[in-house]
Amino acid sequence: MARRAPLTVLLVSMMLACGLSGCLGDEALDLLPEKKGIPGGLTLACLQSSMYTSMVIEIDHEPGYRPFTSSTDMLIDRLEQVCDKPSGISIKYAEVSFDHEGTWSAQDVRDKGWATKDHSPRDGTTLYWQVLFPAGTYETDSVLGVAVDASTVALFSDSIDEADGPFGRPSVEDVENSVLVHEVGHLLGLVNLVYQSPVDHEDDEHPGHSNNEESVMYWAVESADLSNFIFGELPNEFDADDLADLAGLADGSIAIRDQLWS
Ligand SMILES: [Zn+2]
Repeated sequence: MARRAPLTVLLVSMMLACGLSGCLGDEALDLLPEKKGIPGGLTLACLQSSMYTSMVIEIDHEPGYRPFTSSTDMLIDRLEQVCDKPSGISIKYAEVSFDHEGTWSAQDVRDKGWATKDHSPRDGTTLYWQVLFPAGTYETDSVLGVAVDASTVALFSDSIDEADGPFGRPSVEDVENSVLVHEVGHLLGLVNLVYQSPVDHEDDEHPGHSNNEESVMYWAVESADLSNFIFGELPNEFDADDLADLAGLADGSIAIRDQLWS
């Protein structure tokens, strides 16, 4: 609240100065609390380096909920594959208590996420994306992870722990690896969240997801119904269509919308 007081004073001053005609144009709106955007709203900020030359993934986990190192290592690999960050992509861990009662909604993830962010998503020349690993489950308990705005995702480890297959295939670690890449894939705008792919690879019944079960963006990856995968490997890579979409967005050959920065 302390940060809001000067803004209120400023807005009141402007309203007095402008009279009843109102003068809250775009410039004034920029003074309002930072826009959170939609998943994919910071896609270009990741894919390109003209403004943001480095990237940090802030992992905020409750005690006992730190992700497997294999998950964060894989995430860095996948991001380095597509994002132009000459000064590097790194992970920053913080152990936090979210003090949340009951199940989680998307709004809960947004509120608790922004309350714990160490940085604005765009700070100097660094892009900050955040992954929450809270205790507890999503309001729909088959959901293993969610992307809630342009810089914030959450993984529900209590549900992931239950989502391994019979005989441990895929294992809990496999599931976490894939769900982490999947949710961050939504921050990259996959599939069709902030653009229209020239290739028809979005699943008809699951908007925002791939119809290719060999893509990490396949719709079933974030759901506890992973039985599709018991006879095979859980996908943890972007497929050729995902990569072609990201390359097209990066070079401007595919139009992009809803960007917080471009
Ligand atoms: Zn998804």
